[in-house]
Amino acid sequence: MSEKFFEFLEEKLRRLKEQNLYRSLKDVNSRDGMEITINGKKYINFSSNDYLGLSQHPLVKEAAMQAIKIFGCGGGASRLLAGGTVLNKELEKLLAQLKGTESSIVLNSGYTANTSLIPVLAEEEDIIFSDELNHASIIDGIRLSKAKKIIYKHADIDDLSQKIKETSCKGKKIVITDTVFSMDGDIAPLKELYEICKFEDAILYIDDAHGTGVLGQGQGAWKHFNLPQENFVVQMGTLSKSVGCFGAFVCGTNSLIDWFINSARGFIFSTALPPSVIASAIASIKIIIEDKTLIDTLWHNTEKVIEAIKILGLKTTNTQTPIIPLLFESIEDAMNASKIFNSLGIYAPVIRPPTVKIPRIRITISAAHTHENIERLIEAFNLLCQQPRRA
Ligand code: PMP
Repeated sequence: MSEKFFEFLEEKLRRLKEQNLYRSLKDVNSRDGMEITINGKKYINFSSNDYLGLSQHPLVKEAAMQAIKIFGCGGGASRLLAGGTVLNKELEKLLAQLKGTESSIVLNSGYTANTSLIPVLAEEEDIIFSDELNHASIIDGIRLSKAKKIIYKHADIDDLSQKIKETSCKGKKIVITDTVFSMDGDIAPLKELYEICKFEDAILYIDDAHGTGVLGQGQGAWKHFNLPQENFVVQMGTLSKSVGCFGAFVCGTNSLIDWFINSARGFIFSTALPPSVIASAIASIKIIIEDKTLIDTLWHNTEKVIEAIKILGLKTTNTQTPIIPLLFESIEDAMNASKIFNSLGIYAPVIRPPTVKIPRIRITISAAHTHENIERLIEAFNLLCQQPRRA
């Protein structure tokens, strides 16, 4: 029986390779700013979500090293035992301040957050309305909940309004959306979503993984739209992208956060993040709050790249952020383009189905990219345009 299973696995892997859908791991030898060495070859990294370059910031690194000296490496136990430290409380206070909420709690990753919080936010009689392009961790969180799920068309307020109005529900209605869509780079219509949720007495759960540190002068998507704080808004985000560290958080009212602490399985049954990670996140968020130059540089770089794409007529999405995808007709076209980029020392890998419907090179911009890095990327766009099969 097991023999057959392994034959079946090999057959499946062989088919993935045939269809250019096989994924493999990369051996990164070193990272220095946005310079990355993979299998001994140097590239400029255009695939990182380290939007502000904070993972490499001297103060952020120093904070981690100090925490290791004081507390050691691992958390050793879950938060509800003695896995957390005073640093966790400090970070949670900062996050609540950043997002303007009463309270916050840190979780071990964005994936853990969505798959742990959504199942305890939604109850059996509830209905979740979910944008069709929401992140996989939201989709899995909804699957783990006992609530009914209704998918609305991507960022389509009319579709959501109609679906929410015509659906009767014994429990509560919950709308869930990415703020910045991770593969398309567009921003959710949060103002309209807020108004619908207020009118319909629904909960709005936002995943601000790619908005935190990027939008609203670093405070995130809610601030970007200048929306008021309301009890019915749950703000989740990650520490793994512009914060440059690891982990996630959720911000909301005292009772909501207390409920998550007492019910979210990914919080209760998992070891707390290492103190060094928490310390580096604190240092990072302080920089985001106090120093706006990194955010300004990020947007300057982003605007230059979006402008170049428009001038050259390359195909992209309705991106409004540092996530800038180049779209291709086929996986082969995307892979050829990625090779052209590689030949110029640019690392920007292909994202293919089933992660996305349309194959793409997902370029991400950082404040840590130098003027020369951005010029090299634009040179690669030009080279791409000269190819016979182009985007
Ligand atoms: N939500 C969104 C929108 C994401 O893009 C990601 C990661 N790509 C996650 C959640 C998961 O976050 P993490 O990597 O911290 O698990």
